[in-house]
Amino acid sequence: MESKRKKTKIIKDIKVDTKKCVGCRACEIACSAFHATPKYSSLNPARSRIMVVMDETRDIFVPIRAGEYTQAECNGRNRYVIDGKEYDECTFCPASCPSRGAFREPDSGLPLKCDMCENDPPVEVPMCVDACTFDALIYEEREEEVEEVKEKREDDMELAFKSLVKKHGLKKVKDTFARLSKG
Ligand code: SF4
Ligand code: SF4
Repeated sequence: MESKRKKTKIIKDIKVDTKKCVGCRACEIACSAFHATPKYSSLNPARSRIMVVMDETRDIFVPIRAGEYTQAECNGRNRYVIDGKEYDECTFCPASCPSRGAFREPDSGLPLKCDMCENDPPVEVPMCVDACTFDALIYEEREEEVEEVKEKREDDMELAFKSLVKKHGLKKVKDTFARLSKG
């Protein structure tokens, strides 16, 4: 059964100004360093939770932050046309999805998701924003009243955990969580 009550939550967001992005990929490097184990021990954009989609011939650079893991390919794909060029239907998708390799931890294959650089003590601004000297990434915080659905959230987490175990095996998932929790 669900118990609902209102609470105020700080919503963190990062806006992107694609006109300012030059494709330097400093954001990818900063994110990968922050999430390395131990922290800052390696720089590997393949481990980044932000990916800069590039079309260098047209000077188009779009930083995408990793979103939710999806168990299956979606069937509601979008098409994007920018300056007359049609982009691949998955090009700007933030999901870690079985149909492509984006946003996967390279060693374990586990999905990566932007966590807004949650840390103890908290960071002032997320690493990717801090690293972007071109002001293409703009950090925003706003207060929102949200319904707290405690039990549903727990159910969702359990479902997500089960789906990871089903796909990768319990040992691999446990090993990865143990490694990440040391970071
Ligand atoms: S650091 Fe900023 S300018 Fe460089 S690729 Fe990332 S978003 Fe673009
Ligand atoms: S907010 Fe943090 S976790 Fe998310 S993409 Fe930026 S650096 Fe990576």
